[in-house]
Amino acid sequence: MREPAIKYRIVRRSVKHPRLELWGDELRIIVPENMDPLKVMRDNRRWILRQAEFVKKASSIARSLKLIPRTRKKFKALVQKAVKEYEKLLNLNVNKVFIRKMKSCWGSCSSERNITINREAQFLPEKLVRYIVYHELCHLIRWRHDKEFNELVSREFPDYERLDLELQAYWIKLREMQKVDSGLKLS
Ligand SMILES: [Zn+2]
Repeated sequence: MREPAIKYRIVRRSVKHPRLELWGDELRIIVPENMDPLKVMRDNRRWILRQAEFVKKASSIARSLKLIPRTRKKFKALVQKAVKEYEKLLNLNVNKVFIRKMKSCWGSCSSERNITINREAQFLPEKLVRYIVYHELCHLIRWRHDKEFNELVSREFPDYERLDLELQAYWIKLREMQKVDSGLKLS
């Protein structure tokens, strides 16, 4: 069987341990300066293949996705409403909510209990926006993406694996559209 192809980039950095990150549809392999990247890839073969399969699946559904026309103001209101609702549900408090352009993820949270939501989520279906917010709030309870974290997420979003795939697909779609956009500007 042919292995699914994946774009990857090897990044040399002065780190102690190798790290693998998925940036959109590109896999970044962060390699300590004294380590052989091929060894890192061999050691993490299963993880790499799983990510490649995930990206391949997401690419195939990206074409059929529709962007939702929504104003910035409506998007902000939607995020704030979801934050309020999930604060109550999870019995916690968020400090500040930021909406910003982010290069590598849909959302993040900090130890100061601030959450940041990617501005590009403006064009996503409501369920996905709510899912991003809920995911970030769950990180205020559980930092790592471990079993307990997934259990917490699945209480509200039992189909979270499908939603992760859709988020990945939207990510690919938005990237592709930007490529087209910048191409048009150049000509
Ligand atoms: Zn997370």
